[in-house]
Amino acid sequence: MKLISYWQDTTAPPGDFRKIPVPENVDVAIVGAGLTGLSAALELARGGATVAVLEAHHVGWGASNRNAGMATTGLAIGFGQAVKRYGRDRAVEYYLEYDKAISTVESLVHEHSIDCDFTRSGKLSLALTPRDVAAMRTTQRAIASIGALPDLMVLGPDEVGKEIGSHYYHGGMVDPLGAGLHVGKFVSGLAVAAVAAGATICEDSPVVSLSREGARHVVQTTRGVVSAKEVLIATSGYTSALTPWLQRRVIPVGSFVICTEPLGDALAADVLPHRRMASDAKMLTYYFRLTPDNRLLFGGRARFALSSPDSDQRSAQILRSAMVEIFPQLGDRRIDYTWGGLVDISMDQMVHVGEHSGVHYSLGYSGHGVQMATHSGQQIARKLLGLRADLPFSGIAFRPVPGHVGPPWFLPFIGAGAHVVDRWNLLRGGKS
Ligand SMILES: Cc1cc2nc3c(=O)[nH]c(=O)nc-3n(C[C@H](O)[C@H](O)[C@H](O)COP(=O)(O)OP(=O)(O)OC[C@H]3O[C@@H](n4cnc5c(N)ncnc54)[C@H](O)[C@@H]3O)c2cc1C
Repeated sequence: MKLISYWQDTTAPPGDFRKIPVPENVDVAIVGAGLTGLSAALELARGGATVAVLEAHHVGWGASNRNAGMATTGLAIGFGQAVKRYGRDRAVEYYLEYDKAISTVESLVHEHSIDCDFTRSGKLSLALTPRDVAAMRTTQRAIASIGALPDLMVLGPDEVGKEIGSHYYHGGMVDPLGAGLHVGKFVSGLAVAAVAAGATICEDSPVVSLSREGARHVVQTTRGVVSAKEVLIATSGYTSALTPWLQRRVIPVGSFVICTEPLGDALAADVLPHRRMASDAKMLTYYFRLTPDNRLLFGGRARFALSSPDSDQRSAQILRSAMVEIFPQLGDRRIDYTWGGLVDISMDQMVHVGEHSGVHYSLGYSGHGVQMATHSGQQIARKLLGLRADLPFSGIAFRPVPGHVGPPWFLPFIGAGAHVVDRWNLLRGGKS
């Protein structure tokens, strides 16, 4: 079993940027070469700005190459909850932003001919109990009332079998707009496009300090110093003491993934006949999909721990048991890959885009960053270029996580709480 991401293992690197000299002067210095940083770099360079992307490791090292490659509609919180919090008009605006974000990914794929298997295969949300199905019907009505999107389809216990080869679930909901992609190839394609447009990427270049000299920022890396007019922090769940104000506002939660051997056409079609991007309705959700070569990629917050080789292997055992409970037909299938990564959860599970002490940031994607990091990076770049930008989330207050200074000591407590809530919801809904 390989302890690296399947996406990374099956992608040609976009280049070797480990020895590219760190530029002395740029218009914009970006910290982090994931989807946020690369998408921003591409847009900035196309707009004529000089830009340096400074990455501690290599392109896509963070969550961007470790996720499930699902670019789906919907906020990290339910639409009903968003209406309660922000009122109907803003909730609709926020919800539709995710739809725009998928279109941004799709446009970039086409514009730059990125061969990454982008397909609008649809999103499948899975219900464990009758209460979950009732909640899905409420969501379906609420989304229909927006009037701007295709209908969601809710499936009861008799129909869910058309969507999944499992007796584990009580129902489901299909959103046809959701997409899947080979995210490693997408990240790599973005990096190639950004460099072609004139951006400089520097790998093995951790930023160790940020300071000011007059109107300019002094960005110190281990390989040199950059003087920049603007700085964009694009560090997501890997946000550190470099930016303590942001670090206090992001909870880095480990999410883990296993990937089977190729299943073959018949078994793949049995497991997920329409190749949807699937996730279930628990707090500690399981998410799964087929890869382009018919492996089942199966992920979840198996443990409330940070990713490490030991943690990833222990998570793999937990995930494998869960996968086989849902799909007994995969009981004898080999697991070829396991890996983990950090998801950047904000207190309100909303995206946060803005500026603090003259430094720009975009993070808090709360597990929904494949589409939104790409879109948000592009839009923040447009703002920096002085163009019209689509940044509806910039008005949301960004609250610190109480007691969060330094390492996230509280993760096991959050995990235990989430287990209790899931257990209670299953018992209340009649599933033991
Ligand atoms: C297991 C897992 C599954 C997921 N599944 C999905 C999914 O299916 N769909 C979805 O929408 N979202 C998913 N996500 C979330 C999604 O991957 C992220 O929201 C998104 O990739 C964030 O991109 P980013 O560019 O902002 O950050 P990242 O890709 O995390 O990049 C941040 C980069 O910053 C660099 N960095 C940090 N500090 C410094 C420094 N001081 N100097 C230089 N560089 C630095 C890091 O090395 C890192 O490469 C998942 C995440 C995980 C971990």
